[in-house]
Amino acid sequence: MIRCAGITSDSVVDGNGLRVVAFLQGCPHRCEGCHNVDLQPLEGGRDFTETELAQILLSKVTPLHKGITFSGGEPLIQAETLHKVISIIKEKKPHLDIWVYSGYTFEQVRELPVMELIDVLVDGPFVLERLDLALPFRGSDNQRIIDVPRSLQEGQVVRLQ
Ligand code: SF4
Repeated sequence: MIRCAGITSDSVVDGNGLRVVAFLQGCPHRCEGCHNVDLQPLEGGRDFTETELAQILLSKVTPLHKGITFSGGEPLIQAETLHKVISIIKEKKPHLDIWVYSGYTFEQVRELPVMELIDVLVDGPFVLERLDLALPFRGSDNQRIIDVPRSLQEGQVVRLQ
């Protein structure tokens, strides 16, 4: 089971292009100035089976969508079940790119099996002192937009932009 608090089907701020976004419940990072405080407790939202969540997300994808984003909350505290959800999505629609927002750094999570299925990781906690409203797709300038396949292949962080 995977715990999800909400889904939006028309985001243009959670990654490149038009995207379906799943907001996964629960986050241990407690960043000052967190924009999603309601998603911090583990007990919010509701449980979905991996197949159920993948099917709901896929049902919202139109030919205009570029991909699906997993935000939160902290998606990677549910890394194992997220791996199953993304596997189902990639099997059905391999052209969709998968973005994940995490408060962990790439270096902290690079060994997780789910990383093999993620196209882009926006990493690191939100740091209020480093807030920059001009940055696309992230809140503070410590956060990196990372090309995960290239980073894993090259053994070092390769930024998408
Ligand atoms: S990682 Fe995101 S959801 Fe978690 S506390 Fe920080 S800003 Fe909030």
